Amino acid sequence: MPKIAKVVVEIALDREFDYQVPEALSATVRLGSRVHVPFGHSTARGYVVGFADHSDRQDLKAITALISPKPLINETMLKLARWIGDYYAATIEQAIRTVLPCAVRRKGAGFIEQTLVTLASPAPDAAALKALRQRAPKQAAVLEILQRDGAQPLTVLVRAAGTTPSVVKSLAEKKMAILTRETAMRDPLADQVILPTAPLALFPEQAAALSLVKQSMDTLKPPVVLLHGVTGSGKTEVYLQAIRYGLDQGRGAIVLVPEISLTPQTVERFRSRFGETIAVLHSHLSDGERHDEWYRIYEGKARIVVGARSALFAPVDRLGLIVVDEEHEPSYKQAEAPRYNARDVAVMRGHLEPCAVLLGSASPALESFCNVRNGKYALSELTHRVDHRQMPCMRIVDMRVEAEQSGRMDVFSRDLVEAIRKRLDQAEQTMLFLNRRGFSTSVLCPACGYVAVCTQCAVKMTWHKGCNEIRCHICGRVQRTPNRCPTCGLPTLKFSGIGTQRVEAIMRTLFPKARIERMDADTTTHKHAYGRILGDFKAGKIDVLIGTQMIAKGLHFPGVTLVGVMNADLSLHMPDFRAAERTFQLLLQVAGRAGRGDVPGEVIVQTFTPFNPAIQAARRLDYQGFCDQELESRKELLYPPFAHLICITLESLRAEAVERFAQALAGRLAPALPKAVILAGPIPAPLSRAKGHYRFQVIMRSTSVKAMILPLKETLKALRCPPGVRIAVDVDALSMM
Ligand code: ADP
Ligand code: ZN
Repeated sequence: MPKIAKVVVEIALDREFDYQVPEALSATVRLGSRVHVPFGHSTARGYVVGFADHSDRQDLKAITALISPKPLINETMLKLARWIGDYYAATIEQAIRTVLPCAVRRKGAGFIEQTLVTLASPAPDAAALKALRQRAPKQAAVLEILQRDGAQPLTVLVRAAGTTPSVVKSLAEKKMAILTRETAMRDPLADQVILPTAPLALFPEQAAALSLVKQSMDTLKPPVVLLHGVTGSGKTEVYLQAIRYGLDQGRGAIVLVPEISLTPQTVERFRSRFGETIAVLHSHLSDGERHDEWYRIYEGKARIVVGARSALFAPVDRLGLIVVDEEHEPSYKQAEAPRYNARDVAVMRGHLEPCAVLLGSASPALESFCNVRNGKYALSELTHRVDHRQMPCMRIVDMRVEAEQSGRMDVFSRDLVEAIRKRLDQAEQTMLFLNRRGFSTSVLCPACGYVAVCTQCAVKMTWHKGCNEIRCHICGRVQRTPNRCPTCGLPTLKFSGIGTQRVEAIMRTLFPKARIERMDADTTTHKHAYGRILGDFKAGKIDVLIGTQMIAKGLHFPGVTLVGVMNADLSLHMPDFRAAERTFQLLLQVAGRAGRGDVPGEVIVQTFTPFNPAIQAARRLDYQGFCDQELESRKELLYPPFAHLICITLESLRAEAVERFAQALAGRLAPALPKAVILAGPIPAPLSRAKGHYRFQVIMRSTSVKAMILPLKETLKALRCPPGVRIAVDVDALSMM
């Protein structure tokens, strides 16, 4: 056994430290072990990430203790963490923190124990209680609660009695109450009734897809399968049966879904097929719930994990398959360091385990599509909906023509109004999509040209009608709506631009009898609002659902026969080279919501640019056509997927400090980069100021990430970052704001 361990401590230092492995621990310390080590003048917790026979340092200190005997993180996950650190230019600590959830790191091994308090028998009689009430009223209160409500956890009891644990403990000392240690298990699905389902008989395309995935699971050839299946084509059934195949051989699975589609609906489908062996991980779990789920997986009690982005790091032993549903979703990218893309890390984990990886989407990202073309991934297609239900017909409405004919700018085209009316008459459901909340998206004064802009951010303020406030959607700043223009003093303020609130208001005047609901970040602040609205919609208690991207994805409502896209140009005019791809994907997703039942669906898209190629391709539901034309222009400009793109964003409260540093960075980086790397900037970021911080960007593109990362790391090390300047390095950036 090597004498020296390399340890990463839980402080953000991008370094490994050498420690001696003491004789007593040499048999138990392993790769990934969590240990206590002397650090500076105190001790720190750390992870063993490697071993060595000798160290350059003479005066090595020794590991003080082993925290958990079985490592929390195995060799594969350690390798994965290293890869994440290297590829996404993050520190090894950041990477380790990513693969081990905070709740697990803090609490350590085992289930959380809690103290249960029971009333001792015989219970005190009325006289004894009365005497106690006079001597020690708090103790008496505790006993009364126990008598009334029975045994309960110490924390709950203390809160109910408005007292402290010491009061309960003194009761225990007097043998009037009994304290026991119990392991607590919090089950996030505890209150749900699940009916089991059996595998469905597959359609030929589904069967072909399943057999390719099985082949991949057996032989790792191909290592990655891209399942391109139109919405409602039965991709999920393929996932379920592939997972069953693995499970029968003792192999576990991880299924990633975007947070937004991690609805009870989705989880229910997995639960009803696999029952108890499902663990669920998402961002709304409490630390305790997350900890328990993690340990159920760690101990092999749960073999299948369904979850959002970070579920990719679940400690599933003998992993057979990783599924990434809606693989094109930008929400798989983490917004803070390490800025990893869970889809890409899934492919890497699959390679390291090794196990098969299945990516599914109705509109795969161009990156994945390209990986099929160049032979890295195998493709499987589901070209039609289950039962050959028709794909919805998409109609494009030219809002310029509308305006010309009616002489004004209406929010609803006549076609859309008529289509909604028809659905209401036939008791069918409608969804209206607009990716902007609030009532009006700008507040301006036509007399003097004043526009309400956030004082902290370079964006316009949005008017929210109900509360009569104007709000900044970047920093959240709220202000009462001024009655008069703050610059010229005239009472002429105008509210223009359309948000979901206004769509709702107009709908209510157009169709006063219809049952209308809105779902966006404003109406779902309450924890259960999201589930309630979706439940009501599914139960047919809502005729028209208006919403932001929250309603665009993954949901299955057979009663919806009409989907209206209020303004397709919104995403098209984003300052981002992926704007066309996003718009195309969005339209396809939205279209996927229509006609999932027996009646064929219709989609009406309102736009001022009806001939835009992305909109036209979406109308024809022509994925290949869109890819061909979009890839051509990306290739010409050497944009992803033909190159990797690194976006470095620099921010500071002081404008000139950040601009100067951005210039210094770009100036020093340029000569350090290989010739093939394209360097752009510094330029002000599209969102040039946020929360008071001025923002600049430097952007690099190259076919090799390594060619950019190494010089970047060197340059950042050599340049001292001035105080107050923040640097965010985003490798394979998806958002360029
Ligand atoms: P996708 O994940 O591609 O959007 P789903 O898996 O949600 O599609 O399938 C749509 C609907 O079709 C679901 O209600 C599902 O139960 C049903 N379905 C899927 N496969 C079959 C099958 N082989 N036979 C019958 N129904 C199926
Ligand atoms: Zn702001």
